[in-house]
Amino acid sequence: MSGDQPVVPINFIRKIVEDDLKAGRIEGRIATRFPPEPNGYLHIGHAKSICLNFGIAEDYDGTCNLRFDDTNPHKENIEYVQAITEDVRWLGYDWDDRLFYASDYFEQLYAFAVELINRGKAYVCDLTAEEIREYRGTLTMAGKDSPYRNRSITQNLDLFGRMRNGEFPDGSRVLRARIDMASPNINMRDPTLYRIRHGVIHHQTGEEWCIYPMYDYTHPISDAIEGITHSICTLEFEDHRPLYDWVLDNISAPCHPQQIEFSRLNLQYTVMSKRKLTELVNEGYVEGWDDPRMPTIAGMRRRGYSAASIRDFCERIGVTKSENSVEMGMLEYSVREDLNGHAPRRMAVLHPLRVIITNYPDDKVEYLEAVNHPQDESMGVRTLPFTREIYIDRDDFREEASSKFKRLVSGGEVRLRYAYVIRCDEVVKDAHGEVIELHCSYAPATLGVNPEGRKIKGVIHWVSSRFGVPAEIRLYDRLFNHPTPDAARDGKNYKDQINPDSLHTLTHCILEPRLAESKPGESFQFEREGYFCRDSKLGTESYLVFNRTVTLRDSWTKIEGQHD
Ligand code: ATP
Ligand code: MG
Repeated sequence: MSGDQPVVPINFIRKIVEDDLKAGRIEGRIATRFPPEPNGYLHIGHAKSICLNFGIAEDYDGTCNLRFDDTNPHKENIEYVQAITEDVRWLGYDWDDRLFYASDYFEQLYAFAVELINRGKAYVCDLTAEEIREYRGTLTMAGKDSPYRNRSITQNLDLFGRMRNGEFPDGSRVLRARIDMASPNINMRDPTLYRIRHGVIHHQTGEEWCIYPMYDYTHPISDAIEGITHSICTLEFEDHRPLYDWVLDNISAPCHPQQIEFSRLNLQYTVMSKRKLTELVNEGYVEGWDDPRMPTIAGMRRRGYSAASIRDFCERIGVTKSENSVEMGMLEYSVREDLNGHAPRRMAVLHPLRVIITNYPDDKVEYLEAVNHPQDESMGVRTLPFTREIYIDRDDFREEASSKFKRLVSGGEVRLRYAYVIRCDEVVKDAHGEVIELHCSYAPATLGVNPEGRKIKGVIHWVSSRFGVPAEIRLYDRLFNHPTPDAARDGKNYKDQINPDSLHTLTHCILEPRLAESKPGESFQFEREGYFCRDSKLGTESYLVFNRTVTLRDSWTKIEGQHD
């Protein structure tokens, strides 16, 4: 990763890591891991976890593994494995040769389960799922022992072996830890360690297994096998920590990693649960996992957010143990900051209105110079062809307006950015009274200078109609109408809060000709309109599709200031 990252503020997890290093509690290196389940695409919440885990490894000269937590084959697939791998790499992190799957350890996990049985710490239980729930008890009521809890070690070994051999149907038996049915922590009431799942083809192990280990059993052992020192996870696993520790204390584990919990990222006006994101995709509310409205890494990339801006955001929000919901504006701030520095400036007319410059020769073309970035000379200049017929934005013209309207009015003057001052002499309308064309005249002596004795305040952008490139531009609004769509209210669920107008597609836009050379995924500032990214999937060479990444904060005053 680039070395120009800002210094990362110390958070409570980094403090633990530093203390452990100082006290000599770590032999060798700091080792972390990022453990996604391949049952969906990564989202911005995962980015927080990725930046934390890989960031700590980087800063303390340690390692971070990428490990797929693939113990639920019926929900997982290889498309997700590939997308996740791509997204982590795109964010700027590298796991060298340390790409692992929990399924790499299925044989070892099985052997540890046999060890637990041999120590009298696990048993095969024949209760149905329903009965197990009943026996578990509640927060206020202790659970009840399963009638199978005291099976002999020999019988347990036999039954567990036959579970593996496929002799029993799904749901007929499970392997459970033998801990304490009266524990105040429900996670400790003889949790299930293995269940039977026939007929699923696992993306890594195929049909080799018909029993699959549970997350709470798999995770600590995978961590221990990999020599993880700090197993960082989100707060909902706090109550599972005693089980994490119990598993490692009751097997011959190679080491005992420390689980540390932090609060997950919640972002306003969006949802983050993979189940809900899957529904948005499968039920057609969005165009796919990489729809630019999605809070996924793939969606944000397609929308034009850079990896650096996402990392910057993850640093700004910090890492704590308190639940909170971050404003979208914070993410957009990081995105804007980054783009402001790097994105070349271009002109694009989103709602074209034809302008004929009646005193400009029909066959004439002038190539006017324009800077690519107002503050960064190293980005160079480009030329803009100026012709008799141009387009301006409909919003930049009013037949009549107060003096506050600094753009073009009937009979008034305005400056065309990087070009001349024009005056609107005539407004042409169709039969419905709609303005379809303006006839203007230009003042030849006004290229780069104000007309004598007068200052023209308004500056608008424009594109030559002969040389302009046709384009579709997609404007995005928030996907949900409410800042916390997850929160149940008035019996509505998150889908009832979907904003039906989150996508506005403008199909008749005109871009300055230079944009024909842009590449998919490239970002620009369209002056006065915002930051835009050429779509990586849609469009053709002659009809470009751009996504609006983010709006400009205060576009109008900024442009005026730049010109004067
Ligand atoms: P979901 O609950 O939506 O299915 P998950 O937590 O199960 O998400 P995983 O693939 O298991 O998703 O997550 C991988 C890692 O990313 C875990 O360590 C998890 O704690 C972390 N993570 C997931 N969501 C967030 C979030 N919103 N903020 C921070 N970390 C997160
Ligand atoms: Mg999970």
